[in-house]
Amino acid sequence: MSTARIDRLQPALAARASAGIAALNDLFLPIEFPGFVVHVSDTLRTADEQAKAHAAGLSDLTLGWHNLGLAFDFEVLNEKGVYVTDGAHPVYAFCGSVWALLGCRYGIVLRSGQIDHDHVEWRPGNVTLAVYVAQHPLVA
Ligand SMILES: [Zn+2]
Repeated sequence: MSTARIDRLQPALAARASAGIAALNDLFLPIEFPGFVVHVSDTLRTADEQAKAHAAGLSDLTLGWHNLGLAFDFEVLNEKGVYVTDGAHPVYAFCGSVWALLGCRYGIVLRSGQIDHDHVEWRPGNVTLAVYVAQHPLVA
């Protein structure tokens, strides 16, 4: 479990990530998907980490919300403690819907046409990435 990385997110998203994890693991998953557990697997990325994610085909972007502390990814473990790798498993949309209730963006469609099933974003003011970066230049 790597929930400690939540504190690398910007505070508004960190609060929502934590609340979602608690609600899912303590309340919702035991009812809908007994034995399943969700945790945050990736939060803030360096430019190098984003470049690697892009090269591996895991991200469409060379600079994205992860680089700004405004996105996280999550992983679900099934009742046997095995990582559920199939993003089409309904548990992913279920978890994402909880974060959507908290005002986060979930269900981002990648250029491949696939849903980015493990990815949650927080867009302050609901702006685009280009607008946000223009307003908040990264320190090199
Ligand atoms: Zn992501």
